[in-house]
Amino acid sequence: MNIVAIYKKFPQESDCIAHLERVRWNGTPVCPYCKSTRTTPARSGHRHHCNGCNTTFSVTVDTIFHHTHMDLQKWFLAISLVLNAKKGLSARQLARDIEVNKSTAWYVGMRIRNAMFEQPELMRGIVEMDECYIGGKPRKGNTPGPEGGTHKRGRGTSKIPVVGMIERGGKIVARPVDKSKLNAKSLSKFVREHVDVADAMLITDEYKGYIRIKTFMPHAVINHQVCYADGEIHTNSIEGFWGLLKRGIVGQYHRVTLRHLHQYVTEFCYRYNYRNNPALFDITLARAVGAIA
Ligand SMILES: [Zn+2]
Repeated sequence: MNIVAIYKKFPQESDCIAHLERVRWNGTPVCPYCKSTRTTPARSGHRHHCNGCNTTFSVTVDTIFHHTHMDLQKWFLAISLVLNAKKGLSARQLARDIEVNKSTAWYVGMRIRNAMFEQPELMRGIVEMDECYIGGKPRKGNTPGPEGGTHKRGRGTSKIPVVGMIERGGKIVARPVDKSKLNAKSLSKFVREHVDVADAMLITDEYKGYIRIKTFMPHAVINHQVCYADGEIHTNSIEGFWGLLKRGIVGQYHRVTLRHLHQYVTEFCYRYNYRNNPALFDITLARAVGAIA
């Protein structure tokens, strides 16, 4: 849903609350403190009274919306803006769009990204694996990095590696890794974590970190020195995703720190994985309130 649809569907705060209650409880409020369903509407506002533990609660307790002094309509708009921002959305832009200050916007963005974490199903069929390197070019006049070069590319630079896999025609998983973990042992572990190794073939480039893959599953290698595709043997899908991720992070987020990089990578994976799903907004709301993991 785009922001016009959000405004039309949820013109009032009460519409947002009613919708969130449907998404979270499907008609039967559950006390977040004692899990009782014996509740009655509380006298004030949109709260519920729990007859089990004698407290009152609202639908936002224990969700990403809890303890924020921002109304739900702005939250809904923020979620819609982030979901529709193919190239990412900076805190500065979000602040302008929903009229909050920049630190609130940053916090809201991070909470939305936290709702996007998911444990995907094991990948099957043809799976492409590759790494990319994130980290903006140093500004003019900056001293060279520890490795000497200021504009080096890829392996052997001070940029942060991100490792990922795409099931061809399916979903993607990706995550930043420590440079010291870009080795055969860790890369094999990552594959085993996300791929049904008995029912898949992995395609990578000729990087030596992938050397152990063939010991536990079929593995095809594309030698990029020779060509970029040999029939089905290519890594074009994941390389396309890296292009999107890099442009987004360089263009919108500029100075993503290592500490937060995984959240931005998760955001880009999430958008990619649900790119054609018309229920994406409600799926994200359901994650935001913990109705789906
Ligand atoms: Zn209770």
